[in-house]
Amino acid sequence: MAFTKLHLIDPILKSLEAEGYQSPTPIQAQSIPYVLEGRDLLGCAQTGTGKTAAFAIPILQLLYKQKQEERGPRKIKTLILTPTRELAIQIDESFAAYGKHTGLSHAVIFGGVSQLPQVNILRKGIDILVATPGRLLDLISQGYIDLKDLKIFVLDEADRMLDMGFIHDVKRVITKLPAKRQTLFFSATMPPEIQKLADVLLTRPAKVEVTPVSSTAEAIDQSLYLVEKKDKPSLLLHLLNNSPISSVLVFTRTKHGADKVVKFLHRSHIASAAIHGNKSQNARQNALSNFKSGKIRVLVATDIAARGIDIDDLSHVINFELPDVPETYVHRIGRTGRAGNSGIAFSFCGADERDALKDIQKLIGKNIPVVNEHPFPSDAPAAPVPAMVRQKTPQQKPGAGNRGKSNHFKFRRKKDKIPSSHIAAHK
Ligand code: AMP
Repeated sequence: MAFTKLHLIDPILKSLEAEGYQSPTPIQAQSIPYVLEGRDLLGCAQTGTGKTAAFAIPILQLLYKQKQEERGPRKIKTLILTPTRELAIQIDESFAAYGKHTGLSHAVIFGGVSQLPQVNILRKGIDILVATPGRLLDLISQGYIDLKDLKIFVLDEADRMLDMGFIHDVKRVITKLPAKRQTLFFSATMPPEIQKLADVLLTRPAKVEVTPVSSTAEAIDQSLYLVEKKDKPSLLLHLLNNSPISSVLVFTRTKHGADKVVKFLHRSHIASAAIHGNKSQNARQNALSNFKSGKIRVLVATDIAARGIDIDDLSHVINFELPDVPETYVHRIGRTGRAGNSGIAFSFCGADERDALKDIQKLIGKNIPVVNEHPFPSDAPAAPVPAMVRQKTPQQKPGAGNRGKSNHFKFRRKKDKIPSSHIAAHK
């Protein structure tokens, strides 16, 4: 099925083409028509299924059509409430990508950082707001956000809101919304409290469900390498030289990290290329076609850059760094073993990544088998080391070592998991 079958407008089709999306995922094919009809929606789907586009695309289309008939300052017409800052950022980036040609404006707000830049953007007037609950309530109570013109409300990852202790904040946000609105409700699971919330929020919803993302992980042969951060490049080289890897997508967390891996591989005479947001469209296309044609067998990518690239016959995925969002792990490894082929995924886990590993293993419901026989085994303790120690390596000069590392990542884990009322108190 093509996106054109979903009656999407040209400005959106153009962006989807630029993203490299060829056809809608099942959740998109099912949800988009209902949302365009103005119906409430109950979606059982996780990150990694394409659910962000399943709501972002039709929302952009509805708002674009409304905008043609409106004059005056922009008011918030859509609110997307999501539990973590990284999800909030990803959703906002999706609106930016799919809505590039719509002229609609969007903003993202989350706790743990100064509110001033966020307030400045809100003051200019926006159509779409992506928010985590604590910061949203904070800015509402300070009078910076008014939701009385809201037309569409999206509650994303409702069950995770419950797990993270945000459910009361979510309920408080709901009291601030106009009664007449379209509501889209997404949750991977439906525990009783979430079902109750859905019953209250939704009016005769259309229901769509897709296979949980974690089940895709079962088909893939996964292994874990416990390795010190400094040894990861050497381990990568070792695997490239000693395993039957015909084509591999290597994931790093940052653009800087991707470039570093490629430089190291070049020095070791392994043809590779990086694709990430700092590369021109041309450079990315070149890298991709060289990879697809087999000229290079290693492509190094960040999660964002890897979006929308569809590569068949990938023999391996290597997680050079573990992702902080567990669903991202499943999505990454799902890029190998497509179309019935068996896939292989290697993951490198440093001492500072044990928390991320725990979350991933919880999501996929099993422990990833550890490979003990390799030349760079880590003798680091299993417990995570404190953040201050983690960021220093002998090669780093003070103040120079973290360039290119995402600040988002540094705060994420601790702050997003504490109740948002505490985040407000830390400002
Ligand atoms: P999500 O479940 O929304 O986090 O999306 C998972 C990933 O799939 C993201 O990296 C998206 O960019 C990508 N994606 C979403 N829809 C499509 C599509 N129709 N074709 C290809 N990639 C997609």
